[in-house]
Amino acid sequence: MTATVIDGKAFAAKVRAQVAAHVARLAEEQGLQPGLAVVLVGEDPASQVYVRNKHASTVEVGMASFEHRLPAETSEADLLALVKSLNADPTVHGILVQLPLPGHLNSELIINTIDPAKDVDGFHISNVGLLGTGQKSMVPCTPLGCLMMLRDHHGKLAGLNAVVVGRSNIVGKPMAQLLLGDSCTVTIAHSRTKDLAEVCKRADILVAAVGRPEMITGDMVKPGATVIDVGINRIERDGKAKLVGDVHYASAAAVAGAITPVPGGVGPMTIACLLANTLTACCRANGLPEPEGLTA
Ligand code: NDP
Repeated sequence: MTATVIDGKAFAAKVRAQVAAHVARLAEEQGLQPGLAVVLVGEDPASQVYVRNKHASTVEVGMASFEHRLPAETSEADLLALVKSLNADPTVHGILVQLPLPGHLNSELIINTIDPAKDVDGFHISNVGLLGTGQKSMVPCTPLGCLMMLRDHHGKLAGLNAVVVGRSNIVGKPMAQLLLGDSCTVTIAHSRTKDLAEVCKRADILVAAVGRPEMITGDMVKPGATVIDVGINRIERDGKAKLVGDVHYASAAAVAGAITPVPGGVGPMTIACLLANTLTACCRANGLPEPEGLTA
């Protein structure tokens, strides 16, 4: 079998177009413009690239983008004051504090100071609790993007066996909650899981969020399964820099029914979902109906 490639780049473009159309309607019918504030502390090169991309995508869909770049030595008190002022600003519907923060700043405290209704990353403890209890919440962008691709590919997910490899708070755990919400039978695997290959082989849906290059190989994949590769690993091969996932693409694609590539799979969906969350936050804040198909 050769797997169908789930094209995250094309799907993300569709989501962004849907968001842009909704944003245009909000402007026309309500005189409203969703706004996203991104806070970057320090000079981390990868974070700078992410923030630049987020700004460009936000503007492209017609939203207001507010960038706050602060020096690495910014005090916790100053950062908390900025977050509180963004909480109070009615033109800001989404707030994202780019992680990782410099070591002297308490990330949990900062994230939990964001108004949960504006927490478009879905990391605030209230949103984690709401998601865990099946209530309306802000859902972390990467797992939301994975869920959208899975729903698009499968239609209904109910009854499917899903295995999520990785139990981080930003990907693995919320991914598992979302799949449970769609009535999958969910297993979460991690570094202490016994016989990972056997566990993975039971999966109709296999999500890899490990951070280890090409760790999931074809012999761990059930024939016909859908494989979602969240991993982004920079490696060097044949003297060249290369981006690979947590899944060994060639061997997995030979067995799977469908698979996301790296790059061009989950990655582009993450920013698209950030825009979708900002739009959802704006609609909720104004008592308007939420955009269809863009939330969990
Ligand atoms: P973390 O490092 O926070 O979590 C990794 C998880 O993998 C842990 O739960 C860990 O288990 C588990 N793990 C590690 N080694 C093994 C192993 N040998 N067998 C089974 N499980 C193992 O990573 P993240 O969740 O933040 O990210 C995962 C990947 O996704 C990374 O490559 C990251 O770059 C990528 N990513 C991509 C995004 C995108 O937009 N596409 C967004 C966010 C992340 P344990 O808990 O036991 O230590």
